[in-house]
Amino acid sequence: MASKLQFARFPAPDGVNGWWECLPPAAPPRTVSAGHRFDWVVIGGGITGLCAARRLAELAPDASIALVEADRIGRTTAGRNSGFFIDLPHDISSESYSRSVEADKADVRFQRHGIDYVRSIVHQHGIDCDWRDDGKFHASVNKKGHAALSHFALGLERIDEPFRWLDQAEIGEVTGTEFYQDALFTPGCSTVQPAVLMRGLAATQPENVTVFEMSAVKDIDDRGDVKVLSFAHGTIATRRVILCTNAYAARFGGHPNGLLPVYTFASMTREMTRDEIAALGGMQSWALIPADPMGTTVRRLSSNRICIRNHFAFRPGLEVSQSDLAKSKALHQRSFDRRFPMLDHLEIEYTWGGPLCLSANNGALFGQRSDGIFEAIGCNGLGLSRGSASGKLIAEHALGQSNDLVRQLLNQPHPRSLPARPIADVAVSATIWVKEFAAGAEL
Ligand SMILES: Cc1cc2nc3c(=O)[nH]c(=O)nc-3n(C[C@H](O)[C@H](O)[C@H](O)COP(=O)(O)OP(=O)(O)OC[C@H]3O[C@@H](n4cnc5c(N)ncnc54)[C@H](O)[C@@H]3O)c2cc1C
Repeated sequence: MASKLQFARFPAPDGVNGWWECLPPAAPPRTVSAGHRFDWVVIGGGITGLCAARRLAELAPDASIALVEADRIGRTTAGRNSGFFIDLPHDISSESYSRSVEADKADVRFQRHGIDYVRSIVHQHGIDCDWRDDGKFHASVNKKGHAALSHFALGLERIDEPFRWLDQAEIGEVTGTEFYQDALFTPGCSTVQPAVLMRGLAATQPENVTVFEMSAVKDIDDRGDVKVLSFAHGTIATRRVILCTNAYAARFGGHPNGLLPVYTFASMTREMTRDEIAALGGMQSWALIPADPMGTTVRRLSSNRICIRNHFAFRPGLEVSQSDLAKSKALHQRSFDRRFPMLDHLEIEYTWGGPLCLSANNGALFGQRSDGIFEAIGCNGLGLSRGSASGKLIAEHALGQSNDLVRQLLNQPHPRSLPARPIADVAVSATIWVKEFAAGAEL
């Protein structure tokens, strides 16, 4: 029986993505502007869709594959994040970190699978995205943060993962600031310039992948064997579709699907002058995560800019307001000033936001949604590593392959269902507010 899948939310500008602005202008996009036919269509040109399209092409070299993106690849969320490819479970202060050793190890295997896949592509194609296998620092600013890091250290010992403590002087030598009390270094994280990486992954797709940008799918008319995707100026007929639209797949109203579009915000400074670089000191490039997950993430970039991220906001309309951006910029400036008093003239040049796709139980959507339509959605904030892996694995699953990681994803919990709006708005926003308040000094 024919059915229609409607897309209700599309990416909005949401501030100015500093990573994208630092790049040379992109070539004009190829858009869907006629009637096309492909064997496969992957919807969403974030990290998940980019890996899904590539893996399909690697395994089915004779198939024709379209990758369609509503905006420019590299300008949306996957190209506007902090650029951490994180291998370890993330929520270091939560009790769930100490859940079963096997579950933690399985997560690490899954996330490393994604990192290894993308790293190999970056090296094979020489994608110049400042890929660094330099690890990350988890830093604390007070006793509470130290306790969270100690809990994290215990969890790491249990799963046999290496780490190293740094005292205040040592983390100061890395960052140039005395702000942090101590830190824990874990070596397995990689970092990138995310917009360059996404553009590079799009530009180096195998020959049987055609990339369309500025081409939002409005709906999918599922006529059984054939699915017809409608765009503003054309259509694509196909037999199989993979949905990689992450937060844009969240549904509210009558049947909410448990996916929570929660925005987070980042700012990037202008390039430091030689005097400012000397005043700061420290290493030329480093990546730091706060002891409290609601705190402030900071990266010093090899381009001599500083990128800072904090603040969350539940925005089920998939759009942020100018006042969200102004509030975020003010928060970022305050966090920046507390950390870097020696850089009091270093202005913030760009501020932006982007939607994470969270769920109350860390569940995600992976697998066949209906005949010929597959999905890999919901990376719960670790989209770079988890999206890389789930994009690759959904392609393998859709082509009938099975392996331990595919089975692991098929067995993960579905997002827990949520109350409909406006109850969800109040409950989620209040939870964020309380957690942010509790993060206090880590902001
Ligand atoms: C400020 C910030 C910092 C972050 N830092 C990190 C970090 O350091 N490490 C990390 O792992 N994660 C981080 N994240 C989260 C990370 O960016 C996401 O988890 C990741 O982008 C998810 O990738 P994805 O491909 O699944 O989804 P997305 O990147 O959201 O890609 C989905 C794509 O689908 C497209 N799309 C939607 N609807 C349609 C349609 N109808 N037709 C066509 N295309 C459509 C969208 O335009 C979008 O490009 C951060 C996010 C933000 C906002």
